[in-house]
Amino acid sequence: MRETDVAIIGGGLAGSVTAAMLGRAGIEAVVVDPHETFPEDFRCEKFDASQLELLAQTGFAGNVLAKAAAPLGELWIAHGARILEKKAGDQYSFAYDAMVNAVRQEIGGSASLMVGKVNAVETGEEMQRIVLAGGEEIRARLVVIANGLNTGIRDVMGLDRTILSPAHSISIGFDFKPVGRDRFPFSGLTYYSPRMSDRVAYITTFPIPGTMRANLFVYRDMRDPWLREMRHQPMAALEAALPGFREALGDFEVTGFVKIRPVDLYQTNNYRRPGMVLIGDAFNTACPAAGTGTNKVLNDAVQLASVHVPAWLSTPGIGGEKIAAFYDDPVKRAVDEASLEKAWRLRSMSTDTGLAWQARRWIRRNRRRAFGALREARGRLALGGLRPAGGHS
Ligand SMILES: Cc1cc2nc3c(=O)[nH]c(=O)nc-3n(C[C@H](O)[C@H](O)[C@H](O)COP(=O)(O)OP(=O)(O)OC[C@H]3O[C@@H](n4cnc5c(N)ncnc54)[C@H](O)[C@@H]3O)c2cc1C
Repeated sequence: MRETDVAIIGGGLAGSVTAAMLGRAGIEAVVVDPHETFPEDFRCEKFDASQLELLAQTGFAGNVLAKAAAPLGELWIAHGARILEKKAGDQYSFAYDAMVNAVRQEIGGSASLMVGKVNAVETGEEMQRIVLAGGEEIRARLVVIANGLNTGIRDVMGLDRTILSPAHSISIGFDFKPVGRDRFPFSGLTYYSPRMSDRVAYITTFPIPGTMRANLFVYRDMRDPWLREMRHQPMAALEAALPGFREALGDFEVTGFVKIRPVDLYQTNNYRRPGMVLIGDAFNTACPAAGTGTNKVLNDAVQLASVHVPAWLSTPGIGGEKIAAFYDDPVKRAVDEASLEKAWRLRSMSTDTGLAWQARRWIRRNRRRAFGALREARGRLALGGLRPAGGHS
């Protein structure tokens, strides 16, 4: 029997960030996960500026980015074959397992990782009990459920889910390399299709250590034969569904296995219970195409570890009203609501043929074109040794 203040079930991104932050704050915590080293898996592979801002709040952003990620240099935006914009990258790209394992290296002080699979959880107002597959027990004042998409424990606890949108989007990930040259002239390229009938949100390419990577997001039925073609003949499938992509990117070939993952949008129910909180994908999912899953994960971990857990542990008991403060936290609610809203908006933006959405798409494309032209003009001015009127730099 082991005793601790906080027991965390699941050492993915959410559980590992929470454990590392609690350890730094001197709060006793144990994170339990079946894998000593987080295995290779297709998940988030890029942090944008908003996610980097959240990561900065953990206190160990510099360490994990230096170990696991690469800054994205120039990012090109293409609409069909046409490059609309070239802008300085404000993103970092990585393999998900490398990122989680780098975060795990930050778990220290009063926090530790324990290898094991949690089979049962009992919760109450004072002490919680979790039981591992090997029979070991952990008693804790608080249980954090961060077991991602795996519903095993939640099913046992009667935490069912409402599926808000089954297979809301499908994420496709693959490695690729240039053909006929050593490297691409950009660091990353994001392509939007000019043709809506293909139900493509966009494809984004970026370097991760050792390879170039592509994430393609589509809204299709899982039985669509195009997905089978994408798995077995990816070059032909890309040619068919992404007009102009090859021209924008230049000659390339897909290397290795194509991973195809549908993601349901869901919300876990019955979660307001004394003694436990759900965070990250265990609480609800985001659409990978909208790219907000790690906003939710990082925001949950930061709010929980820096605001709520220290306050909860400062007085006896972990009753329902304490737990409610986390779910009702306006910062958490705003991030969760924005994530869901973006999931639906991007889907409509990519597939809706109504006039209003056509107008929005037109505005999006022309705004990019205008920004691109402005940046190019600024670049030409700088190259010519001229400064914009009134400018100091
Ligand atoms: C294909 C795909 C692409 C995505 N792309 C993006 C993107 O571009 N941008 C973005 O922001 N988000 C993206 N997301 C979402 C983002 O990756 C997730 O929101 C995030 O990884 C969830 O982290 P988590 O810690 O909640 O879950 P996970 O990282 O999955 O961790 C769950 C952990 O729980 C452990 N576990 C499970 N059961 C047990 C048990 N019984 N006992 C102990 N441990 C257990 C597992 O081993 C695992 O380590 C994507 C998701 C997918 C699927």
